[in-house]
Amino acid sequence: MNIFDVKHNNRKTIYFYMREHGRATRQKISFDLRLSIPTVTQNLEYLTEQGLLTSEIISDGRPGGRNPLAYTYISDARVAIGIDITKHHVKTVVVDLDGNIIKYVYRRRIYERKDAYFRQLGADVEEIIGHANLDRNKVLGVSIAVPGIVDHKRGYVVDGRVINNTGLTCNDFAKYIPFPAKLIHDSDASGFSEVWKNPDMHNAFYISLCNTVGGSVFINDNVYLGDGLFSGELGHLRIHQNGKQCYCGQKGCLDPYCNAEVLSNLTGGELHQFFEKLQQGDSELKKIWTHYLDNLAIAISDIRMLFGCPIIIGGYVGPYMKDYMDELWLRLDEMSPFGERASHFVFPCVNKSESVATGAALYFVEDFLNHSLALAEKNHSR
Ligand SMILES: [Zn+2]
Repeated sequence: MNIFDVKHNNRKTIYFYMREHGRATRQKISFDLRLSIPTVTQNLEYLTEQGLLTSEIISDGRPGGRNPLAYTYISDARVAIGIDITKHHVKTVVVDLDGNIIKYVYRRRIYERKDAYFRQLGADVEEIIGHANLDRNKVLGVSIAVPGIVDHKRGYVVDGRVINNTGLTCNDFAKYIPFPAKLIHDSDASGFSEVWKNPDMHNAFYISLCNTVGGSVFINDNVYLGDGLFSGELGHLRIHQNGKQCYCGQKGCLDPYCNAEVLSNLTGGELHQFFEKLQQGDSELKKIWTHYLDNLAIAISDIRMLFGCPIIIGGYVGPYMKDYMDELWLRLDEMSPFGERASHFVFPCVNKSESVATGAALYFVEDFLNHSLALAEKNHSR
């Protein structure tokens, strides 16, 4: 470890201490972290200069005493914007450094591969900045999450049959967005928000049950991207020989058995109505749901065998799963070759909504927490 690493580690340690504790004096930080007062002071001053902390004198009411300085963590010292693009809507969020949504805007808008559509995305960003009354200098960047397979190295959509976005680049989507931008695969984004909010979970497989089925793999807190094109493409895991037709051209993939429309199409496109009727005991829907869980269990059992890590069920269906986990776990326990209890490793998602847009934005937050604090240090010490 060189001197830069040591200094950077101290800075990060102090910043993360403040993030956890919210408010503290330099004496308390020095004591708790076993760092010298000058080291703590230097870093606190730097973090305050960067607008990441505020400081104030705490008065003990006694005249002439040396009143200590208290530092306070500012969760919205920086923010990131996430955009979730689907066939029918655009959802935009602003998240703070703790991953809280501080503004959310929903627009129903049909996706079109046209300049006017991209121009509108630029307007969406300006709109949410206005609504949230944001200082533009605080915006770390804008992440755009799209359906389709994204080549992360070259930043373009390799296979975008779901919304006709094949070949489009990050620059196309962000043409009218005057901030740093990232293009992210939608299920990677929602999976990332789950792993990010679960500090004890470092490896995971995230299942996205939206109108298409997707998945993403997390290893040591980072998304595993394969060689850059795809990984975790669960929707095309073959679960039945000569089964139902999949949109990819193959037959028997998981997607046509477990996409959310398999359920929502039975209740006029409204997924919540499917689950309401199911709760009321509708026997037709119960049959469909039983079949759905049977197929989902096949896929989950295979994932567990391949990765041996926790599995999170998300996407549109994920938030409804909590009432049905017992049924799913039972199926999985019966399939386990090692006698494992599925309740120990299969979980419903924690995000109730907007996990795609939130997760996308969190990529910028994560970069900031892991890298920008370090870069700032480097420049500062020159
Ligand atoms: Zn397929």
